[in-house]
This record gives sequence, C-alpha cells and structure tokens, in this order.
Amino acid sequence: MAILMDGKVLAAEQMAALKKRVDALKAAGRTVGLAVILVGDDPASQVYVRNKGKACEELGILSETLRLPAETTQEELEAEIDRLNRDSRMDGILVQLPLPRHLDEAKALAKIIPEKDVDGFHIENAGKLFTGQPGVVACTPKGILHMLKACGVPMKGKEAVVIGRSNIVGKPVAMLLLNENCTVTICHSRTADLAAHTRRADILVAAVGKPKFVTADMVKPGAAVVDVGINRVDGKVVGDVDFDSVEKVAGYISPVPGGVGKMTICMLMENTVEAAENVLDADGIRTE
Ligand code: NAD
Repeated sequence: MAILMDGKVLAAEQMAALKKRVDALKAAGRTVGLAVILVGDDPASQVYVRNKGKACEELGILSETLRLPAETTQEELEAEIDRLNRDSRMDGILVQLPLPRHLDEAKALAKIIPEKDVDGFHIENAGKLFTGQPGVVACTPKGILHMLKACGVPMKGKEAVVIGRSNIVGKPVAMLLLNENCTVTICHSRTADLAAHTRRADILVAAVGKPKFVTADMVKPGAAVVDVGINRVDGKVVGDVDFDSVEKVAGYISPVPGGVGKMTICMLMENTVEAAENVLDADGIRTE
C-alpha cells in the first residue's frame, strides 16, 4: 500500500507557519493584502475564489475580490489591474482563469507587476524559473515540489515523467523537477506509447484533466504518483489517477480531493506573504 501524500496535513502545517509570518508583518505595522479579479460567473472559478478568500481569512490576510461582469472589455480589465498595481494595501494580484473568451489572458497577466504576480504566471516570473533566477513560482508546481520534499521522496538522479505541457502546471513542474536533478520527460496528447514512458517514472505527475486516466499498469512499482487533475464526474471531484488501483502499486500517492489542490492554495498564501515581506527593508520598514 502506498504512503499517502496528504495535502490536508501538509497544508495545515504550512498554514500554521505562514500565520506566524503574517503576525510578524502585522507587528511591523504591515497588513498583507491579496486582490482577486473574477470576470464573469464561471461556477468552478467562484468556488476557487471562495476558497482563496477563506485561506486569507484564516491567516489574517486582507482579501478583496473584484467581481467584474462577463462583458468587461480588455481595457476595463487592464485599468483595474493598473489600479491594483498602484494600491499599496495589495501585495498580490490574481486574475482568476479562465477569462471569458473575448479577453486576452496573456495580455492581462502581463499587466500585473511581476512583484505582485502571486500566481507566478507573468512571463517575467516564468522566464526566471526557466533561467534559474529567483522569482515567483506558480502555486501548483510549487505545491507539488513542497509535497514531494515533505514526504521525503528522493529526486536526485531519478526519472520524473510529467503528463501535460500546460504553462501553469506541466512545463513549470517539469522545470522544478529538473532543478532537483531529476531526469525529466514531458508527455502530452501527441506522445507515442505514453505507458512506455510512465512505466519508467520514479516520479509521475499527472496533469491531464481526464478522470482516472492513469491506471495501475502505467505505473512503476514504488513510484511517487502526484495527481493534479480536478475533474467533476456525477457531481464528485475525481483526479487524473485511478486511485484505488494505483495505490496498490505506487510507493507514494496524492489523493483528490485533499492533495495538490490544498497545496496550491497554501502556496498562493506563501507567495502573497513573500511579496509582502519583499517590500520591507532590512529594518522592517516598508520600502514603497
Ligand atoms: P490543460 O488542458 O492546459 O493541459 C492538459 C495537458 O494534458 C495538455 O498539455 C495535453 O497535451 C495533455 N493531454 C491531454 N490528453 C492527453 C493524452 N491522451 N495523453 C497525454 N497527455 C494528454 O490543463 P492544465 O491546466 O494543465 O490542468 C490539468 C488538470 O489539472 C486539470 O484537471 C485541471 O483542472 C487540474 N489543475 C489542478 C490544479 C490544482 O490546484 N490541483 C491546478 C491547475 C490545474
């Protein structure tokens, strides 16, 4: 039976540590703030935004959700981002994705100043990750790394296979695994003989968006299997990994729900706290 990489437990530990950092900032006269922009009324996005608000509340972070109508124009959206860029109460700005189709996501994300880009999606932060410079790392990949490290999964010299090549999960998590000295393979929808790759993996990350896509026959015995997927099936949330069969083969496995999703929110909080800490100078005085 695999060891459970329990996002609930790991996130609770991390949140307790973050609370202390938020309290220390408050003692230095700084309230930490996170602004979330939600355009339209996508039901899944509403849930994510609500959960982010709850996490802020738990830590004593000021959270402001700006709800904009679905017909908001690019100019209006960017004007709001500009306003929040200048708002010194807000350390982090997050544009909840996906945006309605008429809006240009890449352009909107590029408007957020990189220091406040707590999602780590700005091209400057993505570029820093890919060139090995310190910057804001996207929350889900960062959470996956935190989970693997906290569970003591060996990474140096190991084979890591990532299924999925999105800019928000697949590519950045591959880069983080590479930085940990894994030998990394990125698989995707056009990969020939996917199972031949996954069966070599000591660490297998599934970020596909297809329910129970990874089955036991695709997993190397003893592998660490990270399930990133969030799929809604008959009103229930299920991952990309067929948990019941894979847990019998894997050495470590993360559940859905209660796995990577918990870590993602936690890392969003961490990025926000870090952004606030970064605007304090050595004497604990705000520098802007
Ligand atoms: P995406 O749709 O952008 O990317 C999916 C990837 O899967 C693509 O790169 C595609 O090439 C690959 N793929 C599709 N079919 C495949 C196949 N048959 N074989 C191999 N690869 C295949 O999705 P995303 O934004 O990267 O998200 C992936 C999943 O993770 C979704 O379920 C999403 O909801 C979830 N997600 C969870 C969190 C979290 O916090 N837990 C965060 C982000 C995304």
